[in-house]
Amino acid sequence: MTLVSFACGHGAAPTEPGSIALRRSCPLCMLLHETHRTRGELVSRAAPPARASVAVETRLGAEFAWQCARGHDRYQASVMDVLTGPSCPKCIRNAEAPTVARDGGVASMNAGLRTRTSLTEQRLRALLEERIRVPRGVNTVRVNRMFYGKQEVWPDILVPALRIAIEYDDPGRSRRAHLGLKEASDREKDDALAEVGWEVIRVRAAGLESIGPNSIVCASLTPQVADRIVARMAELRGDDAVDALRVPPAT
Ligand SMILES: [Zn+2]
Ligand SMILES: [Zn+2]
Repeated sequence: MTLVSFACGHGAAPTEPGSIALRRSCPLCMLLHETHRTRGELVSRAAPPARASVAVETRLGAEFAWQCARGHDRYQASVMDVLTGPSCPKCIRNAEAPTVARDGGVASMNAGLRTRTSLTEQRLRALLEERIRVPRGVNTVRVNRMFYGKQEVWPDILVPALRIAIEYDDPGRSRRAHLGLKEASDREKDDALAEVGWEVIRVRAAGLESIGPNSIVCASLTPQVADRIVARMAELRGDDAVDALRVPPAT
């Protein structure tokens, strides 16, 4: 078996004889980033005897014992299942709605995906909400291909009425992961959304370069950035569609 050490510090020690050093985060750290979680949050969801192993795990398919935040019985599940949806069997049974639409492009609420939002993301949302109505009850979009083992993606902010997602990228937030594979994963997510009729507007801050016509390149997050996002929305979907969402200026 080949030993691999990852840039996030997980895997084999880089000094291990015969080990291969990869310049990217381990799969688990990448999915944590994608779903806006921290390792500490994941560890706290594990049953206490499993915590030390979860803290250093690199594989998405690794199975552990977890404890349900709602107080249900401990259950066995993969890291992937815990990070991408409700994973407690009792919670899944409770959440099973008979009429949930699962078609491509449909935005919905994945109750298991309680995302952590950074202060910058909250500020971006607040700036947008001063301009247009942005719903809070949705966090996933159904797509037609598999993305991290799921047929859905988890953008930062969703505007289903326009079929537009907004993502905030900066080098600090991604802890150098926006280079290389992370960039490829971003593009894959944008493509998966494009296939189901969505556009992704990316705020590319703090030195990140444009990756396409929907990139809003800026030094930092300002009200002008929000204006540019709304202007881009109008270019993509028409003034009428955006005007229908506008909130009246505060008086
Ligand atoms: Zn890692
Ligand atoms: Zn539960």
